[in-house]
Amino acid sequence: MKTKTLKKNKINIVTLGCSKNIYDSEELMAQLKANKFDVVHESNEEDSAIAIINTCGFIDNAKQESIDTILNFVDAKEEGRVDKVYVTGCLSQRYKEDLEKEIPNVDAFFGTNELPNILKTLRADYKKELVGERILTTPSHYAYFKIAEGCDRPCSFCAIPIMRGKHRSTPMEQLVENAKQLAAKGVKELMLIAQDLTYYGLDLYKKRALADLLRQLSDVEGIEWIKLHYAYPSGFPMDVFDVMNERDNICLYLDMPLQHASTNMLKAMRRGITKEKTTQLVKDIRAKVPGIAMRTTLIAGYPGETEEDFKEMYDWVAEMRFDRLGIFTYSHEENTHAHNFEDDVPEEVKKQRAEEIMDLQSGISWELNQEKIGKIFKVLFDRVEGDYFIGRTEFDSPEVDNEVLVKKTDDNFVRIGDFAHVKITSADYFDLFGEVV
Ligand code: SF4
Repeated sequence: MKTKTLKKNKINIVTLGCSKNIYDSEELMAQLKANKFDVVHESNEEDSAIAIINTCGFIDNAKQESIDTILNFVDAKEEGRVDKVYVTGCLSQRYKEDLEKEIPNVDAFFGTNELPNILKTLRADYKKELVGERILTTPSHYAYFKIAEGCDRPCSFCAIPIMRGKHRSTPMEQLVENAKQLAAKGVKELMLIAQDLTYYGLDLYKKRALADLLRQLSDVEGIEWIKLHYAYPSGFPMDVFDVMNERDNICLYLDMPLQHASTNMLKAMRRGITKEKTTQLVKDIRAKVPGIAMRTTLIAGYPGETEEDFKEMYDWVAEMRFDRLGIFTYSHEENTHAHNFEDDVPEEVKKQRAEEIMDLQSGISWELNQEKIGKIFKVLFDRVEGDYFIGRTEFDSPEVDNEVLVKKTDDNFVRIGDFAHVKITSADYFDLFGEVV
């Protein structure tokens, strides 16, 4: 049963998982377009003859979502709504052999570092001169900016090194060139990402070179905001904050997953840092950059986590008052060090603990947001939704942080992709409301 004529030369790319996968899909799209394919991202048109699914293999929920998406496209293929289905990304890297056996109707599975092979399979050329070039899937005024791939850290719960390999920094010259290309296309905000941002340069330049890179990116004309994500706490290159204080276009924002607060758990997780050192680092950062917004991510229910460990993390979150915080329930991942231990915290206890932390954090976020009422912030507007223009301050990243909502009125007119100054008039748990001034 065919519903629509399929366009032989049209490819629909579907991206699951994190911003690094978004980056990889965008790079693949640029290569395909340069090879004269008609490329779309997550289209509902159902007229693409080829689908490529960029999967996530991080934790259970993400893996299930990837498998469900693959099966949906395999069904579509059986119904003639697509001709070819290809799968790439982390799930495919990690479980290629099992997936080939279990879902034989997929035309081919590729790993996380197989862009040239995907192109070869589609009888397209890999164009080296286009490395770093992308077709953005984000609004055109901001872009995720991957500065390195892979990770050398031994965190016991994490399967990312299995899927993404060892840490590889992208040369600074290439990154600066890519940033210039993006700025020339109208990108104003760069979200710097990696598996471990603070490790940047240790492989290539035998030193932590994130501060140097930031200075060079900050010099790129047109880039008005630069945000830091996925920093690692131990061995933190504090010179990064000198550049942050020095340069107006480096946002007072830091995303640094910390995973837990009890030293007992941090040791078991092989994080290479203690509660005391983590607390001191957060205090040092706040002293060095007053007003910095800090985001972190935690894990609830790691093997052996006692009620006391959890209480310690809970009290610490109450004390540290992060601006933004997310929490995962521990997922027992094969081939990770933690998989050698018994996954002894019951699922409902993991969920309960994660909920308690998020309830606590919602209260903190609400209080911190109330303090913003009456203040004026520079806001970058991302989209229109119903009666509102929706944007973010320099303290907010897309998809994960607070948003600023400005009612659409004659006085309050902004263009998407533009900055405007907004006076905050009210606030709730995760959103701010205001008017253009
Ligand atoms: S630093 Fe992050 S990506 Fe690397 S092993 Fe640890 S948790 Fe995984």
